[in-house]
Amino acid sequence: MKTIYTDALVIGGGLAGLRAAIGVRRAGHDVIVLSLVPPKRSHSAAAQGGMQASLGNTNKGLGDNEDIHFADTVKGSDWGCDQDVARMFVNTAPKAVRELAAWGVPWGRVSRGSHEHVIDGKTVSLPEREDAHGMIAARNFGGTQKWRTCYVSDGTGHSMLYTMSNQAIAENIAVHERMEAISLIHDGERCYGAVVRNLMTGELVTYIAKATCIATGGYGRIYRATTNAVINEGMGTAIALETGVATLGNMEAVQFHPTGIFPAGILVTEGCRGDGGLLLDRDQHRFMPDYEPEKKELASRDVVSRWMEHHILSGKGVQSRFGEHLWLDIRLLGKKHIEGKLREVKEICEYFLGVDPIKDLVPVRPCQHYSMGGVRTNYKGESQQLRGLFAAGEAACWDMHGFNRLGGNSVAETAVAGMIVGEFMAEYVGTEGADINVSTALIRDAYNKQATRISGYCNSSGNENPFHIMRSMQELMSSNVAIFRHGDKLQEAVTQLQQLRERAKNIRVNSSARGGNPELVAAYRVESMLRLSLCVAQGALAREESRGAHFREDFKLRNDKDWLCRTLASWNMDEDFMPTLNYEPLDVGKMEMPPGWRGYGAKDRVDHPDTEKRQAEVDAIKAKYENGNRFACQDELMSFKEKLPEALRGRNERLGEDENGQLADAAN
Ligand SMILES: Cc1cc2nc3c(=O)[nH]c(=O)nc-3n(C[C@H](O)[C@H](O)[C@H](O)COP(=O)(O)OP(=O)(O)OC[C@H]3O[C@@H](n4cnc5c(N)ncnc54)[C@H](O)[C@@H]3O)c2cc1C
Repeated sequence: MKTIYTDALVIGGGLAGLRAAIGVRRAGHDVIVLSLVPPKRSHSAAAQGGMQASLGNTNKGLGDNEDIHFADTVKGSDWGCDQDVARMFVNTAPKAVRELAAWGVPWGRVSRGSHEHVIDGKTVSLPEREDAHGMIAARNFGGTQKWRTCYVSDGTGHSMLYTMSNQAIAENIAVHERMEAISLIHDGERCYGAVVRNLMTGELVTYIAKATCIATGGYGRIYRATTNAVINEGMGTAIALETGVATLGNMEAVQFHPTGIFPAGILVTEGCRGDGGLLLDRDQHRFMPDYEPEKKELASRDVVSRWMEHHILSGKGVQSRFGEHLWLDIRLLGKKHIEGKLREVKEICEYFLGVDPIKDLVPVRPCQHYSMGGVRTNYKGESQQLRGLFAAGEAACWDMHGFNRLGGNSVAETAVAGMIVGEFMAEYVGTEGADINVSTALIRDAYNKQATRISGYCNSSGNENPFHIMRSMQELMSSNVAIFRHGDKLQEAVTQLQQLRERAKNIRVNSSARGGNPELVAAYRVESMLRLSLCVAQGALAREESRGAHFREDFKLRNDKDWLCRTLASWNMDEDFMPTLNYEPLDVGKMEMPPGWRGYGAKDRVDHPDTEKRQAEVDAIKAKYENGNRFACQDELMSFKEKLPEALRGRNERLGEDENGQLADAAN
């Protein structure tokens, strides 16, 4: 048994994992990053549209600040997020964009003078300020009040990840690639590292660390139709669940993106709609203004996806031999814009659909896209149950997204959470309490358990094929646990998932090859993916309300009275058939923004009994500071700065903003 010792083990080489590792390394500690693939091929590279940060440089971003970004994020989350964490996030996002700029990300820049944009189907000319010339620009994205999404054409994630990865190389960070963490080593109270499988040789290696961070991305591949890469099977989330101690938060909170190209499911960015693209039905009628007169195509993703499916169900979908879809029209943006700011979209349409979006309509339909749920942590990114276990990025439920994350807030979260959680990990690793005194017997037991499990698939007398089970699970999740959910269908999903788990006990792998054996990999992963699917389906069945992306046809209202809480799923015993669900209440009395209307979607809801009182308190505090110091006002509403690592507490400078955080010349 080979054992590798390090100070911090980061599982995942995407944006979040690499940034967290850089933080730990810079504090002088040893760190190793594990990745299924070379880090530059992590899923973060697929992010097209951009990264939200309230820089306020562009004409349509003028007057933007942390408060407005915070309000958009909380409304977007349908009040499911942790508002302290959302504050920590919006305060750090501008620093993250600037840090990435300093490291070399070629952000789109403001160019002085007038420029044409398509807004609401019409071409308008907008002037950019002389003194903003050359500063980082932003596009319209995510249904935000201000244009805040910084971009690098439509290859934002690609540029960010390459830059981050190069920075990690410059910091001498060891990356062990094609190494898969398949189990965490722990004693029920403290995490000590992971059992890791070499995907090329099949060898099992144990890694022992003072701190372990899960940054393994989303669990989209439990669905059949998803924009996620094939590596996004949620294995990091699963191994945390399988400790029997750590909990997962809001696993039922799954986002469906409106514009997956049909039928391939590959994403074309929300930037298409942000930049002025329209959604059309079979009669080429622009239908979104009929449903959402205020935000139209730019309402939040959960809302647009629901209306699209509703419109198809009402007979307005376009028939095709693969099923029904709708159209995305970006022709009105023109050749120059598409070949400049949406060139990846153009290539995707050409390569995978054989259509040219400069002159053709693009067939689209919503499909699974983002995992709001994940390993539940506190504001430091540490598991609430297992000391020394951290999580960051899409794999975590930190939780700044609640039940719907805003476009552009996710790559921003990876960089920001990487910065913050990296600091807290480094601090933890440096304390005496983090010193390790772990018995070799514990390490050997963890190793043996995995070795026995893996060889069990090859020696089994069963006759089940892991790929067939995986396919059935994905079909079931896409049909029964998707955009429109109902108690009966969810119950059926839970029952069938349990049957699939029974079948999975009889998986037999035909080839006994230790390395390079995809059937074996599918065998051990499908067991874990079935557990995750059960957390999603059972969480959705139990949550008898509609909030954000979780829409129950049999409970259509958001219910703040009974369901203003976060679902916590744990898997107590290996042989359990179901996750155990508990709930973490959200405290309205401490919220900076008590629950209200999102500004789009239906206005009906059941109020929380404390909302009115808290709203009155908030209104009174705001009245005191009208046109005054917005930082002091915010501090009185919900103080959060003490939660940030000291290095990240500073104020974000903006062009034209005075010491009170107000635009010095409002007419500017
Ligand atoms: C098509 C697409 C476009 C998107 N566009 C945008 C956008 O424009 N703006 C935005 O804000 N967000 C966007 N998102 C979301 C955003 O890209 C992701 O949420 C974010 O990049 C996730 O980063 P991460 O670091 O958490 O994980 P990832 O980048 O997914 O990295 C996960 C890492 O974990 C490793 N890993 C996984 N399991 C294991 C294991 N068991 N052992 C070892 N290593 C493991 C993988 O190899 C990988 O290195 C988009 C998402 C998709 C699908």
